Amino acid sequence: MPIQTTPKIWMNGELVDWDKAQIHILTHTLHYGTGVFEGIRAYPTSQGPAVFRLTEHIERLYRSAQIMGMEIPYTVDEIVAATVETVRANKLDACYVRPLVYRGYESLGVDPFPCPIDVAIAVWPWGAYLGKDAIEKGVDVMVSSWRREAPDTLPAMAKASANYMNSQLIKMEALVNGYAEGIALDSYGFVSEGSGENLFLVKKGVLYTPPLTASILPGITRQSILTLAADMKLPIMERSIPREMLYIADEVFFAGTATEVTPVRSIDRQTVGKGTRGEITERLQSEYLAIAAGRKADRHGWLTPVAQERAAAVVRPTAPVAGA
Ligand code: PMP
Repeated sequence: MPIQTTPKIWMNGELVDWDKAQIHILTHTLHYGTGVFEGIRAYPTSQGPAVFRLTEHIERLYRSAQIMGMEIPYTVDEIVAATVETVRANKLDACYVRPLVYRGYESLGVDPFPCPIDVAIAVWPWGAYLGKDAIEKGVDVMVSSWRREAPDTLPAMAKASANYMNSQLIKMEALVNGYAEGIALDSYGFVSEGSGENLFLVKKGVLYTPPLTASILPGITRQSILTLAADMKLPIMERSIPREMLYIADEVFFAGTATEVTPVRSIDRQTVGKGTRGEITERLQSEYLAIAAGRKADRHGWLTPVAQERAAAVVRPTAPVAGA
């Protein structure tokens, strides 16, 4: 689906017109994948748009940059404020938000250090990521023949542009073979995650998800689901998952900002559970979406309202994001 344009993009401190948000062809990141970025959603609430877990996303952006040796020339608070400003300036009710920190135009050796650190924030409307029926009916997926990056190759904990070469290979293989998404194993053969979302499964009422050591991105949605599952007093097991557990699970679902909570109804043409959205998946999904859209009390302080003249920073509990 072509990207839906919006009036303004924030670039290095200024709101510029969408069409003018351009970079030079010799920008370092374009050649070597030297960027870190975020994917965030703003949901429409009765009080106007609210950005979901904005500060946590921006904090992860800073951790990603730190891992990649990039010093962002702004504070976390400044990027949080710039994000709110960009959502507000574009007068959108609901949108996807894409902050990008990249190495700009200066030199083209592999050595990134001489290149400036540039920052951009774009927002645009983005609906259901895995198709419009996916949230209710679930998706058909395959286990990819591509593995996630081994721990000593690329930093899975960083949301780094270069890592998405691996994600693209997983996604392309799935699409070419008629599946909505691929599940990658880690370099040891244990279940890792989808090309752009974390994975959960349910077996006999227990919620399982792979640990950070399985080359996963520490997802903000993953952490939100773990929090909601703990609220519901569901038993949680964060541990290595052998591939075959996927085939005998009662329920499997993806969790990610774009994907939200999407049930998986078959894996490698084998039906998961009853082949419909599972009961625990549905409970977690509806709780997640109800809080995000402000239909239920924001008991964990996850929403940053955009409507007010100066969106006040929300008071948040101190529990760290997994992997922080
Ligand atoms: N894994 C990968 C590889 C991703 O790209 C994403 C999307 N950012 C996720 C997991 C889910 O992370 P989050 O819930 O923070 O969006």
